[in-house]
Amino acid sequence: MAFGRKNQVEEEIVTKDTKIWCCTAEDCKGWIRDNFKSSDSPLCPLCKSEMESQTKELQVLENPHPIMKS
Ligand SMILES: [Zn+2]
Repeated sequence: MAFGRKNQVEEEIVTKDTKIWCCTAEDCKGWIRDNFKSSDSPLCPLCKSEMESQTKELQVLENPHPIMKS
């Protein structure tokens, strides 16, 4: 019997190459996920500079597409 010693599997952090938008301003660390951009050419939410698309390995969100289905 193995009571008292739970053999729980630790939740793995799943990461995935995710498209993001990075701020082009040198001193700014602003970035957003592509899912969250407000337009096709989003502006930095911090400094309003232009952003460029990149790919970054990010933790997968459980609900990456906040689309309401009715
Ligand atoms: Zn910025």
